[in-house]
Amino acid sequence: MSDESRLREDICRYGRSLFERGLTPGSSGNISLRLPDGGWLVTPTNASLGFLDPARISRLDADGRLVSGDKPTKEIPLHTALYESRGGAKAIVHLHSTHAVAVSMLPEIDPRQVLPPLTPYYLMRTGGTALVPYYRPGDPAVADAIRGLAGRYSSVLLANHGPVVAGDSLEAAVFATEELEETAKLYLLLRNLNPRQLSPGQVADLVSHFGLTLPEVEDHAGHDHG
Ligand SMILES: [Zn+2]
Repeated sequence: MSDESRLREDICRYGRSLFERGLTPGSSGNISLRLPDGGWLVTPTNASLGFLDPARISRLDADGRLVSGDKPTKEIPLHTALYESRGGAKAIVHLHSTHAVAVSMLPEIDPRQVLPPLTPYYLMRTGGTALVPYYRPGDPAVADAIRGLAGRYSSVLLANHGPVVAGDSLEAAVFATEELEETAKLYLLLRNLNPRQLSPGQVADLVSHFGLTLPEVEDHAGHDHG
């Protein structure tokens, strides 16, 4: 099996797994993967992640032109903006996962840190999550909002819509999206119960031990964004 065939199979396998666990309903959600030649594999428009066909996945060239397969998702601007701002990203997962979408609508959410430090793996996998305001699906303006984060986040939550998460592999992007969803669920379970969060010292220990770069930690150590 060629490398590209294997990557096509990977997209279908992870897509099915996410769909079957109820992490994105109907034909929502999309996955993209950067290829060694600079092109992309992208899940097609109106395709359920649970029933992808490896042969019909959209193959784009380095300029974003469709080379083969079905028409790609209309949420492509989300993906290209995040690839642009995160140079090392190899894959992006976008879901309409219930708990993350729910959290995106809460009034107290800090757009620079959507979720508090509840668990180490949330920080280790996502590096923290930014909130981007609501845009109509497919609106190219969402790309400007993601570029406005200046590459500081690989994990972004679109208000009233869902998460978009980049990783240095498809597996990393999927695992980070799952951590975001599970942490959103924990947040909703614990909201108003005053849970013990990780302390600043425990977060600092994770940052130094695992070499994490967390935007909010840089803020505290450095300048104030007001
Ligand atoms: Zn979407």
